[in-house]
Amino acid sequence: MGYNNHHRAQKLAAWLMALAIFATPLTAIAQTRISYHSNKYKPSDDVQLGRQAAAEAEQQLPVLRDSDATSYLESVGRRLVAAIPPEFQHPEFNYYFRVVNARDINAFALPGGPMYVNRGTIEVAEREGELAGVMAHELSHVALRHGTAQATKAQKYSILAGVLGIGGAILGGPAVGQLGQAAVGAYFLKFSREYETEADVLGSQIMARAGYDPRDLARMFQIIEQQGGSRGAPTFLSDHPSPANRYARINQEAQYLRVENPVRDTREFDRIQARLRGMGRAPSMAEIAQSGQRYPTQGGGNYPEGQVSSRVEAPSSRYRTYTEGNIVRLSVPDNWRELGGSGSSDVWFAPEGAYGSAQGQAVFTHGVNLGLAQTQSRDLQSATSEFLNGLAQGNRNLRQRSGYQQVRVGNRYGLSISLDNINEATGRPEIITVITTQLRNGQLFYMIAVTPANEYSYYQGAFGNILRSIQFND
Ligand SMILES: [Zn+2]
Repeated sequence: MGYNNHHRAQKLAAWLMALAIFATPLTAIAQTRISYHSNKYKPSDDVQLGRQAAAEAEQQLPVLRDSDATSYLESVGRRLVAAIPPEFQHPEFNYYFRVVNARDINAFALPGGPMYVNRGTIEVAEREGELAGVMAHELSHVALRHGTAQATKAQKYSILAGVLGIGGAILGGPAVGQLGQAAVGAYFLKFSREYETEADVLGSQIMARAGYDPRDLARMFQIIEQQGGSRGAPTFLSDHPSPANRYARINQEAQYLRVENPVRDTREFDRIQARLRGMGRAPSMAEIAQSGQRYPTQGGGNYPEGQVSSRVEAPSSRYRTYTEGNIVRLSVPDNWRELGGSGSSDVWFAPEGAYGSAQGQAVFTHGVNLGLAQTQSRDLQSATSEFLNGLAQGNRNLRQRSGYQQVRVGNRYGLSISLDNINEATGRPEIITVITTQLRNGQLFYMIAVTPANEYSYYQGAFGNILRSIQFND
């Protein structure tokens, strides 16, 4: 090497050093900027569409009623939501997180915030960051409003015209049990590779802001590819098609990101993972779809652990008043607990000893279940039959006991029907009374009263009082 060359090399070294000094602040702006796609919907439409899709999804999927697992998922979810960059935050969105009792590695999120993560995803993740990665990816689709952006684009070519009407039955199309093929909210679940890249990039940014290494997201996609075959169809990848160089792209973005306040204590992840792995084999999505089972007690609130007992305290003569979702007000015996609640589309009131779980599903022996259902029919009697057909698919022992009777519910016209059933936890005969009416927006309001057949007469007074206390504010 001659002198001149040496001089040039020195100049280059000096230049590189100067670059290195400036490089630190520069990286902050080197992260990829993502922006919204054109969208003819309002953020509040996302919320409404997502809520309807969630109600439908929860009838088709077994939501795991395990308060430990649910609150753990919620805590990871909250941390990620708080880390969404300000320009993609939507105060009206209602983010909530549910575990689905299915073994496939999958997760999906609906417009406006509801997110469902399969048990299999938590079971195969090697660390919390990988689970957080899948969730951050899903969250990014929601925050970027990809579902309604996609609907906007589709409507331009009238693919969805007539199917996707705000306030209408958006999910009128897919038949029950097609969820294995992701039919529920399919319009919101299957994204283009362009949207996938955006969700990977924003997901990486959210992860870093939340204290997770974005490389864990890339790692999780590798696990999904490897395990996809053995854990049922790789449904996650069919809903979220891999853009070219997915891992490289995520790892490249990760270089520009600084992980803030890294999450170090992930013992809760280990505990929950062990708990879920210990629950026995969860059904696959294909098995769930084949069974055609409906889950009418949808919702997915945090059901506390309980043990069904043979001794249940009689209903108190004192009543406590509750307001559910700003829509329904009612009074129930004050020794009954409210179960389900926030974020769920149904709620239970039951005495201690009257609820428990069987194979991860909540089971009730005494109490009332209230909720809203989407039906195709607008006529109350047809809507009620539709709802009962759904109930019957999830409860094979259900038999009609009486015909329809007219009742008043919240000062409007309603129907009541009694059914015989065999309780899945106790194996004992029970009597179920279903009372329905309609909200002004056409949704079916239902109250299901349950009691063992031999205690039926003792509960008629309490059920009657609850029914008479119902008031609507819709
Ligand atoms: Zn995706």
